[in-house]
Amino acid sequence: MKLQLKNTFLNELPADTNLENTPRKVENAVYSFVTPKQTANPKVLHVSQEMALELGISEEETTSEFFKNIFTGNEVYPATKPFAMCYAGHQFGNWAGQLGDGRAINLFEIEHQNKNWKVQLKGAGETPYSRNADGLAVLRSSIREYLCSEAMFHLGVPTTRALSLSLSGDQVLRDVLYDGNPAYEKGAIVARVAPAFLRFGNYEIFAARKDLINLQILLDYTLKHHFPQIGSPSKESYIQFFKTVSENTLDLIVHWQRVGFVHGVMNTDNMSILGLTIDYGPYGWLEDFEFGWTPNTTDRQKKRYRFGNQPSMGLWNLYQLANALYPIIEDAKPLEAILNQYKIDFERKSLQMMRSKLGLQLVEENDLSLIQDLEEVLQLTPTDMTIFFRLLSDITADTEGLKGVKKAFYNPKDITGATKRRWNHWFEKYHARLQRETRSHPQRKEKMDAVNPKYVLRNYMAQLAIDAANKGDYSLINELFELLKKPYSEQPEKEKWFAKRPDWAKNKIGCSMLSCSS
Ligand code: AMP
Ligand code: MG
Repeated sequence: MKLQLKNTFLNELPADTNLENTPRKVENAVYSFVTPKQTANPKVLHVSQEMALELGISEEETTSEFFKNIFTGNEVYPATKPFAMCYAGHQFGNWAGQLGDGRAINLFEIEHQNKNWKVQLKGAGETPYSRNADGLAVLRSSIREYLCSEAMFHLGVPTTRALSLSLSGDQVLRDVLYDGNPAYEKGAIVARVAPAFLRFGNYEIFAARKDLINLQILLDYTLKHHFPQIGSPSKESYIQFFKTVSENTLDLIVHWQRVGFVHGVMNTDNMSILGLTIDYGPYGWLEDFEFGWTPNTTDRQKKRYRFGNQPSMGLWNLYQLANALYPIIEDAKPLEAILNQYKIDFERKSLQMMRSKLGLQLVEENDLSLIQDLEEVLQLTPTDMTIFFRLLSDITADTEGLKGVKKAFYNPKDITGATKRRWNHWFEKYHARLQRETRSHPQRKEKMDAVNPKYVLRNYMAQLAIDAANKGDYSLINELFELLKKPYSEQPEKEKWFAKRPDWAKNKIGCSMLSCSS
């Protein structure tokens, strides 16, 4: 396995001069060198061959001992120096100070087919940023990150990728419910990949410390390597950079709203500067359509990161990034204008996204009210978001709307009286609206099915794979991985996954309720 290495990050950004791997405050540095931990009995459980090919690694090479040792941290690839990154963040609305890669270790940078990738291990042991935690990850959360990041990629949602999922062979102690009952779980390591793992918090930390020299160094690196279209560093280009980050962040969140993904922990340390979905923790997929839903039990009181609040939280996070950039830009007006534009663009882009979900090609003024009415009726009784929108593409002027989407209702017998009337009324309006469309039904259906996935990683599906894996059966990981490679395609032999959440999963830990304990 010969990798095409590149070292822009290490060569161009300042390193921590302290080489000790002890929890501490790290200043004047973007990263600290650290070696991954040796593990008891590493075993590769799954490899994303698509991702491996992107990195120039052949299928045969992924089965080697060398691959296993490198991507579980048991061997350091020749001439590379693993490191953990220093960042800060606002967590749940409060400034949290230095955080950093507490359980992520960057291995190296690969340049293959004109694409530059950073590869990191999640769960490979302590770093100077581990604070009082162990730097490890459990199989449960690693399966969730592995499957979901690749699923998101195939859904067309910007995301960090995953290369491999491995067992470490070590046991890891976790208190899943934070109720004083810790238990041992299988330790695991995900090798994940992205053009950059930089977060808003990487910039915030230097601004908070008034370290403008390093803030500018990092900013210039970011522009040069990730936003080359913006041009050479200047106040104008920093403003343009912020505008692009703002637009990318909004586009990302509109994608989340489209597919029903709830990130769960949109802290600024989990916001990618490239607008990628990053840090798959207590995320969840909407089952019944509900703006107020969050999977994260840690956020159950305030529901700060609930489905319907994600767009505003993206904006809140961008305010923090704007504050961090202000000392360099020294002009609040353009930053404010960009933040205001986010709100305007959100209305426009989210309306356009909903039009696409409904199969409306023409733009009509009343579309907004049609969409708002739908969002209200969808929440009258529990209605499965994925199934509803997928079935909608089969509705034509001659089909009875309510019958067509019946499978989406969790309690079909509750669709009576006023609820039924509201649904019928909505379908009347929808039918009338479809009449004014010019595309044929097959054309409309094709477009709708390309934005309304048939298969997503439902919370209970990931949990089934986890339960089986904890018993030593890893086959479901592969089955789901394969299924989710084609989320928009009909896969008749896999129709069982086009189904509502089963009753047992409604209030089960790991399905609808997740903590940050991972
Ligand atoms: P998260 O919200 O999961 O992205 O994590 C927030 C911060 O806690 C980051 O700095 C993580 O690196 C750190 N962290 C989370 N879990 C662990 C762990 N098991 N060991 C060390 N650091 C951790
Ligand atoms: Mg994080």
